[in-house]
Amino acid sequence: MQFEVETTAGDARLGILTINGESLSTPNLFPVMNFYGGGAKTSVYGGGIHRTLKEFMIEADAVGDGSFSEYFDATMTSVSSLTDYNINKDRYDDYLDKPIKEREAFEGLESIIFADSGGFKFLNDGAIDGSDFEVEMDQETIYEIQEAFGADIIVNLDHPIAPDDTHDDRIRKAEKTAQNIHKFLTVSREFEGAKYLTLHGYNYSMMDEFLDVITDSVPEGVLREGFDGIALGSLVPKKDNRSALIQAVTDCRELMADWGMGDWPLHVLGISSRAAPILAALGADTFDSSTHIHNAINGKYYQSLMESTMIDDADFSECDCPVCRSDLLVERMNGNAEYQKDISGAVAMHNLIITKNELQTIRQCIRADGTEALVDYFEDTFGGDKTMRRYAHQVVNKSLGGYFA
Ligand SMILES: [Zn+2]
Repeated sequence: MQFEVETTAGDARLGILTINGESLSTPNLFPVMNFYGGGAKTSVYGGGIHRTLKEFMIEADAVGDGSFSEYFDATMTSVSSLTDYNINKDRYDDYLDKPIKEREAFEGLESIIFADSGGFKFLNDGAIDGSDFEVEMDQETIYEIQEAFGADIIVNLDHPIAPDDTHDDRIRKAEKTAQNIHKFLTVSREFEGAKYLTLHGYNYSMMDEFLDVITDSVPEGVLREGFDGIALGSLVPKKDNRSALIQAVTDCRELMADWGMGDWPLHVLGISSRAAPILAALGADTFDSSTHIHNAINGKYYQSLMESTMIDDADFSECDCPVCRSDLLVERMNGNAEYQKDISGAVAMHNLIITKNELQTIRQCIRADGTEALVDYFEDTFGGDKTMRRYAHQVVNKSLGGYFA
């Protein structure tokens, strides 16, 4: 893995992440993708709306002749998605039989695939419970799955904290995560790709204490040698709390610098895509989100990253994305489709394009001289939104040197 920061604007950094021959401009978004949704090869392994998104990703005939694969230059998949479809043992074995990118169904896929550890999901039940089998989910099994997927970025199995955890709870979880890290570094010695260390905490002192606990069992040098990046987790319960996000990411960057990890890439796990500009400005390099899918399922069509309308009220002629320019797909978004997934899948693809294009604009602003372009971008994007404006000002003052820098 290689991570090169080309230039900065305030705390925001413009970089290139290269893993296993694939390169990604950062800051950037990893859209959530269920590569295995319970189905067989003929249905691109199924998964309802996920199936439709995979058809866009591989530019299948079923979604017309537009060009969509570029929006999947990075993807986030979860080990725990295997639990969502009640699959049987044969299917489970089939899914693990061959890496994603070596499969005929995904031929030519050029994507940096990030596989999380499912820590959030396995915390309570600790197992994949299929229709006729059960697999105990420990660190070793999870690594085997990540490797079988052919993932490019992986994380250790973690024990995420919750907002109402006591101090003792958090220490206990950090100790368990430390055991997993120890195991993870042992079993993943031959792994070809990047390993990200999961970091938990809402502020500097919590994260610092987390690393103190971890380094009680895994020496700091081993940690620094064994990992390539940081994955900041546990923010999902707070994902709509912008102040908490701002504090966590700001403190995380400071902590990384203090622990000698300042030049590592920082990934923020599971965010709302509307928070992407703020996270980018604070110096997060990558993040993953499924907001474009959830909003589409709820009938929401993005007019911009900040504004959406119900699909029935949308004017598709105002968008020049390859979904809205396709007669076939507009027809579906107008409700003329056999399955709901064909309607919401097209909307999800449009929503994803809007989000990915926004990140491209943000990268251009970082590339420009000084912080002015990014500050202007914040003003244009959030100026009209009462709730977001306050946070935007906070970010401009904190990370971009203020309005009159
Ligand atoms: Zn569109």
